[in-house]
Amino acid sequence: MPTATGTVRTMPLTIRLVVPAASDMQALGEGVASVLQPGDVVALTGDLGAGKTTFVQGAARGLGVEDGRVTSPTFTLVKEYRGRFPVYHLDVYRLDRIQEVIDLGFEELLDPDGVAFVEWGDAIEGLLPEEHLELLLRTRADDDVRSAVLTGGSGWSVRWEHLEAAVAQWREPGA
Ligand code: ADP
Ligand code: MG
Repeated sequence: MPTATGTVRTMPLTIRLVVPAASDMQALGEGVASVLQPGDVVALTGDLGAGKTTFVQGAARGLGVEDGRVTSPTFTLVKEYRGRFPVYHLDVYRLDRIQEVIDLGFEELLDPDGVAFVEWGDAIEGLLPEEHLELLLRTRADDDVRSAVLTGGSGWSVRWEHLEAAVAQWREPGA
């Protein structure tokens, strides 16, 4: 459907990417960050070592958080950083973390003016806002290359072309 802002994509909104190195994962995070707005939630899925935290480091830098500050939130459920707007980083790997989110309610945890990154977001899929952006990361057998799939809810359709442009460098050939 054409609109004043361009083409509104229909579902599914998906971008397949190939990320050769950790530095690319950070740059990818920066690229995605360039289209993020207050209230956005980014859910990160993938095994230990897949690059979720690495992505968040780049994204946080893109959002104006001082370099080198973002590490895994080990001792608190939510880490907050000051960027262009508040940046929240959660890791719900452990069951007790999932329970905390269930008890508190995801919406209660965060201020709606911030952007939230949730590692192991698939574990609390049903608690996330419907319109979240998902990044699925997969490792390959013998190298540093990660495959990544970005998926957006329908509310992302108006920004999807901007997102595609921001991550074009890592687009899977032929995808
Ligand atoms: P997670 O948070 O998913 O457990 P991390 O980001 O903490 O993963 O760790 C990923 C590790 O893999 C880091 O040591 C990083 O340097 C390394 N790495 C190697 N190649 C890549 C890549 N292509 N993307 C992301 N990380 C990579
Ligand atoms: Mg991590």
